[in-house]
Amino acid sequence: MADTPNASGEPGELYLDAAATEPVSPAVIEAMTPFLTEAYANPASVHQPGKTAARALDAARASFAAALGTRPDDVIFTSGGTESDNLAVKGIAMARMRKLGLRPVYGLDETDGKQLASSRPRIIISAIEHPAVAQSAAWLHEWFGCEVVRIPVDAQAHLDLDALERELDGEASERTTIVSTMLANNEVGTVEPVEELVRIAHAHGVPIHVDAVQAAGQIPIRFRDWDVDALSVSGHKFGTPKGLGALLVRGRTPIEPVLSGGGQERGLRSGTQNVAGAVALAIGLNESNARMQAQYRELVASRDMLIDAVLRVVPRAELTGDPVRRLPGHASFVFPGVTGEALLVDLDARGIAASSGSACAIGRHEIPATLLAMGLEPSIAKSALRMTFRRPLAREQIERVSLALEESYAGLTRR
Ligand code: PLP
Repeated sequence: MADTPNASGEPGELYLDAAATEPVSPAVIEAMTPFLTEAYANPASVHQPGKTAARALDAARASFAAALGTRPDDVIFTSGGTESDNLAVKGIAMARMRKLGLRPVYGLDETDGKQLASSRPRIIISAIEHPAVAQSAAWLHEWFGCEVVRIPVDAQAHLDLDALERELDGEASERTTIVSTMLANNEVGTVEPVEELVRIAHAHGVPIHVDAVQAAGQIPIRFRDWDVDALSVSGHKFGTPKGLGALLVRGRTPIEPVLSGGGQERGLRSGTQNVAGAVALAIGLNESNARMQAQYRELVASRDMLIDAVLRVVPRAELTGDPVRRLPGHASFVFPGVTGEALLVDLDARGIAASSGSACAIGRHEIPATLLAMGLEPSIAKSALRMTFRRPLAREQIERVSLALEESYAGLTRR
């Protein structure tokens, strides 16, 4: 977190938007550089430099897999969370449609949809998915006529497990190609009960994909123990350059590639492999996991201290998401009476970089979708502000943030 005084002695920028992205760790840069300069060969080449690159790729894959509680064969390197989510949702849905003998239904309108309801392939997602999952499901609806079922969430953004059970009951489960849900929510930080979700999906014979983009490096991931079928992660959330990620997929899980080409990564992700990128993912995740282990309690304590301070200085503010089962460095609120956007701009002018909820909505200033799904009124949901950090905040930083928020809120509500 950059918080050093600037040249004029003023306190520097306080970056509280780690859920959007993190800086690249110096250890990552150091570890990946040799694979950009000296050991740059294509790992598929048969010559010695190629073999050196292939060995580095294997080592990175093994280390990365171990950090996620799985085996090297389960790792498919991709260009990030968005690609991993697309590969999982589209790839598994398409493979399962073929396996279950479900025919795509093209050019569907609403009337056709109702008539064909009992034969349409289904996809179950939650009501709070990132657009990478929600739009992949929408694409399958558009091009294959899939029925997209959204599982609602409660006021703290926990998935309604009974609703999931109900949606998987009876004949509908035979048409259900995939369940896709997040592990930790990007807007409010709530952590979902992954083992319960897996148990329910598997009891009905349906594979489950978990979007762990916000969770990896922040809370432990145990892919094999949880018995998940596919799981997405994104490197820039744990200290690698942007544009790097992975999908973990079990060998048993039916899945089709979405990219055609030379057949790298078990045929699931064609394209010359990014050896330096794989090294970065392994180093970044291990570093984040080590920090998580060493600082978890301290991080949670500072998060809770920040939450208390904010609620004290702005009594009308409310914490969003689960107060306990939430990511350790994630504090999110609504501030009735102002817009999140106005607060964000005002805080930015005071040197504090926060977010209104989802980086993807920035520039469009959409109302955070998770908050609407949690049942908040649009006018309240619009007042969302999220502060996310990977390292424990110092007491002075918490004081600085709460003072700035107190002044910002007072100023904006006076206008
Ligand atoms: N899934 C979730 C939950 C996210 O928060 C994000 C990004 O913020 C993504 C997917 C997309 O990841 P990427 O930015 O690597 O494409």
